[in-house]
Amino acid sequence: MEKKKYSRPEISREELQQQLFEANMSLQEANERLRQEERMRTEFFANLSHDLRAPMTALASAVEYLKTGTVTGAELDAVLELMGKRTAFLQRLIEDMFLLAKMENADTAMHLIPLDAGAFLEEYFYSCEADAAYSGRKLTLELPEELDCEIQIDPEMMVRVLDNLFTNARKYSREGDTITLTATKTEAGLEITVADTGIGIAPEELPHIFERSYRTTKARTPGDDSSGLGLAIVQKILERHGSKITAESTVGEGTTFRFVLPIVA
Ligand code: ADP
Repeated sequence: MEKKKYSRPEISREELQQQLFEANMSLQEANERLRQEERMRTEFFANLSHDLRAPMTALASAVEYLKTGTVTGAELDAVLELMGKRTAFLQRLIEDMFLLAKMENADTAMHLIPLDAGAFLEEYFYSCEADAAYSGRKLTLELPEELDCEIQIDPEMMVRVLDNLFTNARKYSREGDTITLTATKTEAGLEITVADTGIGIAPEELPHIFERSYRTTKARTPGDDSSGLGLAIVQKILERHGSKITAESTVGEGTTFRFVLPIVA
């Protein structure tokens, strides 16, 4: 029987050791990332159960109170108003959870279409200007004279991105503050920013704001119907457009969110 020939490996023992070391390191890093994801997931569900329990308890107590049949007039109106608010909050939370899960699922199709960037941004901006919710803020639109370009976007999802950024800019600013929407053509694509002159974000908090449910329980004020998933949704939608969002902020001076969309024509 012919003997099998083994050729000496081209690679030296030191090189092999180095490669093994590097493979081991990247495995350890991947492991750590998975562990961190798992921690965040557990934290997310803990926050979520808390966020669901509070309004559910309030609703259950209100129903019991109404069942006594003694609640009438202004008191009845107040109870019904409270129930309406709690229900709206629960609806918002469930809708946001659903949208986030949809965006995290790579099988969800995006309905990308080419759109005139200037027309899209102007239409969005003027809809905010007409919205009474922004009446205490100064809204500014800064577009170049000739913003002659098309971007490939899912319009419904991109409106959601702008809505979440604008709502935050309003929530975390004060009467008389300014909210500015800008678009600039750059080498990388169309750079869009949403900036406010509001309360700002502390440097130690800034790296965490895109995490699901970050600070919701601490930051939420009574009557606030936000889900705490707003920025996580923004980040996911932009990822599905091949874009990445960043934030810069100075406490007391304001916050700027920035992302770039590919120009298609
Ligand atoms: P929330 O429902 O709490 O607003 P988001 O995911 O939209 O959830 O935002 C996460 C956190 O980031 C907020 O709780 C807030 O602390 C901070 N934040 C977001 N946008 C701004 C902003 N424009 N100015 C200051 N803080 C902001």
